[in-house]
Amino acid sequence: MLARAGFRVTVVEASAEPFAASASRYAGAMLAPDCEAESAPDIVRTLGHEGIKAWRDIYPGVVNGGSLVVAAPRDLSELTRFKSQTQGSQEIDAERLAELEPDLAGRFSTALFFENEAHVATPAALAYLLTAAKAAGASFHFNAEVSKQDNATNDVTIDCRGLSASHDLPDLRGVRGERVVIKSADVTLSRPVRLLHPRHPLYVVPWGDDHYMVGATVIESEDDGLATVRSALELLGLVYSLSPAFGEAEIVDIGAGVRPAFPDNVPSIVLKDNGTRIYVNGAFRHGFLLAPVLAVAVVAFLETGESDHPLVKPQKTSPATAFRGQIDG
Ligand SMILES: Cc1cc2nc3c(=O)[nH]c(=O)nc-3n(C[C@H](O)[C@H](O)[C@H](O)COP(=O)(O)OP(=O)(O)OC[C@H]3O[C@@H](n4cnc5c(N)ncnc54)[C@H](O)[C@@H]3O)c2cc1C
Repeated sequence: MLARAGFRVTVVEASAEPFAASASRYAGAMLAPDCEAESAPDIVRTLGHEGIKAWRDIYPGVVNGGSLVVAAPRDLSELTRFKSQTQGSQEIDAERLAELEPDLAGRFSTALFFENEAHVATPAALAYLLTAAKAAGASFHFNAEVSKQDNATNDVTIDCRGLSASHDLPDLRGVRGERVVIKSADVTLSRPVRLLHPRHPLYVVPWGDDHYMVGATVIESEDDGLATVRSALELLGLVYSLSPAFGEAEIVDIGAGVRPAFPDNVPSIVLKDNGTRIYVNGAFRHGFLLAPVLAVAVVAFLETGESDHPLVKPQKTSPATAFRGQIDG
């Protein structure tokens, strides 16, 4: 978005391969502001709707099929609770569920349908964003890090290092998320399905080409080590209970990412050094959903010096109009 707005953009990435060391590669990636409202503050839902709209404008691969929430018969009270804590759903019966997802026919008597939600297949979406950023003129340096000396006088550093920025942002913490990617030709789902459970809620996101992302644990830990047996059992057990036909699925990948999060679990744009260092961080479970909203806010700040966006943390001294006129670099 910065490159498209006319800024000269250099992306400096520590990993040798794109996305190799990121939390982003582990995401669903559901664009689910209404469902996420179950546990997220209201601002995530309101700005999340802007995020979905932006994704639809940016990326042709957005799947606009909505999302479904189901619960096993013994957990139906979870469905009632979920409905009461969210907005924007329709309660549907077994017949409508079978129309939407024929492979779930007969498995659940009722479900919640969030028609306005969407999702993207993470690997394809990330690859597209990289290509689009290059096409817009951004240059990329992999296996590299920014040092203070690299900055020319007028440069602004936008620090998006995720959890690696925690030395500079002391209230940033990591929240571990494990997920499995499976491949099954025996089950077809067209949209994300959340299976509620009192202890281990799970979701399955169809990535196309018979691939499904099954996620995700939410563990207060910065450990980015391999997925544990316990988590694998939870994830695979629940996907099997969603549909036993998943029993023959192949396990393609299993791993854990660490989501960067602030205490309120809401992403923030933190301005430092009089606005010449801009931290964009704390995306928690909403990095895909809110990335375009964060980007728009950064562009607006650099173009106008205005910092009244709800995700921008107020700074003590105003950047005034420091960046006006630098659009051409
Ligand atoms: C299992 C799981 C499921 C998720 N599902 C969803 C979902 O369905 N929808 C959704 O919206 N969000 C989801 N998320 C959340 C989302 O993935 C995160 O919010 C998002 O990835 C955070 O992105 P980020 O760019 O801030 O951090 P990262 O993706 O971690 O990127 C940080 C980058 O900075 C680089 N870096 C670190 N240090 C340096 C340095 N010194 N110099 C240069 N580069 C450096 C890293 O190599 C990395 O590439 C999920 C997360 C997980 C783990």
